[in-house]
Amino acid sequence: MRQVTNPPYPYDRYSAEYVGEPPPTKLEVFEETSTKKIITKAFASDWEGGFRYTVNCYRGCVHGCTYCFARQYHEYLGYGAGTDFETKIVVKPNAPRLLREELKRTRDRMPHLDFSFATDPYLPLEAEYKLTRQCLEVCAEFRVPVAIITKSPLVTRDLDVLKRLSKVSVFFSLPFLTKERSNPFEPYTPVPEARFRAMKTLSDAGIATGIGIAPVIPGYNESDIPGLLERAKECGARRAFMSMLHIDTDSIEQFFVQKMNERLPETRVRKIINTMHRERGGSLRHRSFAERSIGRTEQWDVTVKLFEFHAKRLGFKQHERPVVEDTPAEPAQQSLF
Ligand code: SF4
Repeated sequence: MRQVTNPPYPYDRYSAEYVGEPPPTKLEVFEETSTKKIITKAFASDWEGGFRYTVNCYRGCVHGCTYCFARQYHEYLGYGAGTDFETKIVVKPNAPRLLREELKRTRDRMPHLDFSFATDPYLPLEAEYKLTRQCLEVCAEFRVPVAIITKSPLVTRDLDVLKRLSKVSVFFSLPFLTKERSNPFEPYTPVPEARFRAMKTLSDAGIATGIGIAPVIPGYNESDIPGLLERAKECGARRAFMSMLHIDTDSIEQFFVQKMNERLPETRVRKIINTMHRERGGSLRHRSFAERSIGRTEQWDVTVKLFEFHAKRLGFKQHERPVVEDTPAEPAQQSLF
């Protein structure tokens, strides 16, 4: 087979090396203009107040992480949770206008907004649509605190807007230390090192950054935890959280197992499945919401202790979820408020 190379455009400041080749299926993009609301109130028992408020300018995610719990939301649209989730992307062009309208009514009750949940806020499409960017501008205008979770260095494009937010934290989802280890589970994401470089760029600019080691896949990436925390520390991250793989639906389970079988040796697949079964009581799926992000064996306790030991050693503030921090105001802004 002929090898086709594609050297990056040398003058593109935001180009990033991706873990694998693009999905073989054609990408389809749909614009949804009938959306009435852009802030979603989502149940989150471990969140302050029991709920989190999220903004998603897109549905579906070309990053294609096989473990992604958001795959199930594509089924609400009549699409599949497998390759449809990665190749049929819905764009919400009205998102910034809707956000402004909703914040006019709800600003006083809004603790903070999360940019993540049903998609990555910095999909490659965001480079063109700039919807996340425009929504962040609205948040800056209304002085709403923001937490962002992403796998993409494209977030550095919006550094100027991030600096104008009253409070902000940017967490990079980084469960694997190398491209090779990431590839079987995150085939179309920017490579881990590109995420670390973006983390450093934001940290150096004074933005609070963190690392989310999520998911920890029992029997696969526990050994990456010390190295991930050390690399994040070098890149200026101050906060860290981790959580165990959770698979919410049958369709996600089928897809997850199928992709493991395609991309990993049989012995490794067996090890992951057996370890997961021990953590989940004979299944890949959790039995209750309370068990969603944690395991139940002594082995999981060892993993938690490993994380806590290295997080403490490196001076991280640990959290079960992303939190927002004050943004150092620039001199020009201080006069405005
Ligand atoms: S980047 Fe996030 S939203 Fe996108 S597929 Fe991966 S886990 Fe899901």
